[in-house]
Amino acid sequence: MTVMDNTRPRTWEFTDVDTGQTRTITCTPWCNISHASDIAHPCLPSEISCISYDRANTAALPVACGHDAEDVYVMSALIEVDHFDPDPARRAPHAIVEIVQDHFTGALDPDGLQALIGLFEQRVAALRIRHAELVTARAEHQPQKEAQA
Ligand SMILES: [Zn+2]
Repeated sequence: MTVMDNTRPRTWEFTDVDTGQTRTITCTPWCNISHASDIAHPCLPSEISCISYDRANTAALPVACGHDAEDVYVMSALIEVDHFDPDPARRAPHAIVEIVQDHFTGALDPDGLQALIGLFEQRVAALRIRHAELVTARAEHQPQKEAQA
């Protein structure tokens, strides 16, 4: 594996474990993961995704699912592109929203419920920002170009 370019967007070569073929990938400008494992080890192309976590704008809420409540992130949207996915919809930037089923808050009094409503309103505002970021990411999206054989 050779890191061809250390600036943004990063470009590197990796070995496709299925074919042994050397492939080239260019990370998206908005991606905020390191790709250290992708760069260091041969991998399946389908396992390489660029992801934008909304790290600066998250909210955790204590929820329970058959056990003691623990803080979990709620209503966070990731923007992702799966560069080599067979599904064209996944090769374009798309959002994944972290939503939870069968997880409940503790007993809320009216003030607690009001605070929860405020948090959900904040999360909806954050999702609107992520929506605008996704629209921009799709407008600027450049599909991966395969390395010359
Ligand atoms: Zn990336």
